[in-house]
Amino acid sequence: MVSLFAEYAKNYEEYLVRDPVCRMHIHPEYAADLDFYKGRILYFCSFPCKEKFVADPEKYFLEIPVKGNENKQSSE
Ligand SMILES: [Zn+2]
Repeated sequence: MVSLFAEYAKNYEEYLVRDPVCRMHIHPEYAADLDFYKGRILYFCSFPCKEKFVADPEKYFLEIPVKGNENKQSSE
């Protein structure tokens, strides 16, 4: 049972994204809002965080770590 939980936690962490404003790790499913910027989907823990991002996107966009293994098949 413990190993099952560990496996679940591992998978869960792989889906976590980082709020570029407050740098908190959140699960996309529980994000308060999202935005698209330069081909990336950004998730925010709260609406104030998104508002801050929209006000000055370049400042926060640079803080986002770039993952090497993201596939870019979904262009919607
Ligand atoms: Zn936030």
